[in-house]
Amino acid sequence: MNGFDHTRVGIYGGTFAPVHNGHLRAAKAFMEQMKLDYLFIIPAYLPPHKQIDSSDDPLFRLRMCELAFGDMDGIVISDCEIARGGKSYTYDTLKELERPNTRLFLLCGTDMVLTFDTWFRFEDIFKMCYPVYVRRENDPLIGNRIVAKITEYYQKYGVMFRKILTEPLELSSTDVRRAVKEGKDISGMVPEKVEKFIRENGLYR
Ligand code: ATP
Repeated sequence: MNGFDHTRVGIYGGTFAPVHNGHLRAAKAFMEQMKLDYLFIIPAYLPPHKQIDSSDDPLFRLRMCELAFGDMDGIVISDCEIARGGKSYTYDTLKELERPNTRLFLLCGTDMVLTFDTWFRFEDIFKMCYPVYVRRENDPLIGNRIVAKITEYYQKYGVMFRKILTEPLELSSTDVRRAVKEGKDISGMVPEKVEKFIRENGLYR
């Protein structure tokens, strides 16, 4: 029981190609600070705003999420976007996860906050969930841009992003893929089981 009269469900979507320690840190802080009962980790089938490699296998990305988050209480690794196929719109995912007496919290990294108003049906998304953001970089200039953007969302749409406080971990999946390609050690970037999976399946070479 969370002490609230509703169930609190977090949603953390992304490409997760691969899932890395920055995602893990953000997810843990999200779970604790928003007092979530459940956190759905949802790898996209086709991210609407990103190019992904033609050799990309969504089931590998899903499996790596299972390996990374496997033993955490309350975490659900969901294949809903992969099962749905096509472009993975957050709007459709929220529609699928809506339930009575349930509050949905949507986590975005700072890059996503800045482009949120280009997302499919973003105004509806604002009505369906509580948006939350987490810093992924230390640069104070980006901090100022974020504050300006969330102020704009508040003024235009009456929605206030909540903030997760955690030390930013400056790491991206692109960094991990690049390191693998260059034959570098990625053990500090991803959980051990994910590192083993990438190695054994020859991913990102
Ligand atoms: P890529 O390098 O391939 O673009 P990425 O590292 O940005 O990938 P995604 O899977 O696209 O990872 O990210 C999913 C979500 O996690 C997004 O909301 C993104 O902002 C957030 N995120 C990614 N990396 C971090 C990080 N280091 N700290 C906090 N949030 C992050």
